[in-house]
Amino acid sequence: MKKTVLITGTSSGFGAATANYFAAQGWNVIATMRDTRKDQNIGKSENILISQLDVQDKNSIDKAIEEGINQFGNIDVVVNNAGYGLFGIFEGASREAVQAQFDVNVFGAMDVTRAILPHFRSKRSGIIINISSGAGAIGFPMASIYSASKFALEGWTEGLRYELASLGIAAKIIEPGGAPQTSFMSRMGDEGLAIQQIGDYLPFLEQIGKVYNGMQGTADADAVEKVVHAIFEAATDGTDRLRYSPTDDIKPILDARRNTSEEKYQAFTNTIFLPK
Ligand code: NAP
Repeated sequence: MKKTVLITGTSSGFGAATANYFAAQGWNVIATMRDTRKDQNIGKSENILISQLDVQDKNSIDKAIEEGINQFGNIDVVVNNAGYGLFGIFEGASREAVQAQFDVNVFGAMDVTRAILPHFRSKRSGIIINISSGAGAIGFPMASIYSASKFALEGWTEGLRYELASLGIAAKIIEPGGAPQTSFMSRMGDEGLAIQQIGDYLPFLEQIGKVYNGMQGTADADAVEKVVHAIFEAATDGTDRLRYSPTDDIKPILDARRNTSEEKYQAFTNTIFLPK
């Protein structure tokens, strides 16, 4: 029997590319997006169902899952991909802006997961794949709130994984590095407008702006393909592996985080984010 994946946030970027890739591999795909008029990046195929799903609207989550099961009989994998990055200094961000970031990146993924688990439990199988970020392992300046949301996503997934293992259900994390090919970075600038500027930070902002411009140049040219392949690997490798970090750009910093002491990590990241 054909396998079925439900993906959130498929109007663009990783979500759209993942939907098209799984369909090309013969999977049934429930390609969900909050505005189904934005379906132009999804290929037309009888094994792709485009469904309305806003991760901030529980009814739309339940409806998309129900529609998908009615159409394909079953859901095997859920990819919690919908997300955005709030960019700017923490002090200038209102509580509402922080709440909105968590509503989409954390509570949205939790709500989709809570809604699919009864189906997964009933068949004692299923895979939850949460799209985190390098920012789920490293606190990035000017993206502290985004990092907080992805740290939360990772901590939750890690704990959840143990709860689900005895039921035959897996929970996995994908940690992409930078992918300027998606709408994420241009949108980060738009979201950043919600953050108030505070003059005292300007010298730091100038400095860190240069660091980030330099980093954009180091992003993997094939980042989207690498992320899509990692999602497919997580869905099909039959292992209980928790983390997949598919792009090369963040490997040095992830290595410093995970394979060196806290002191060495901090000394290394200071040279990047606090240059003299
Ligand atoms: P993208 O092209 O901007 O795609 C983001 C998707 O999330 C869009 O389809 C967007 O839909 C959707 N979305 C936002 N809020 C939503 C909501 N409330 N309900 C449903 N969908 C919603 O960016 P992307 O790079 O593909 O991002 C996908 C994931 O990868 C995100 O979780 C992001 O944090 C992560 N990531 C991205 C990068 C990167 O550099 N690109 C790096 C690491 C991790 P609309 O079109 O309706 O806004």
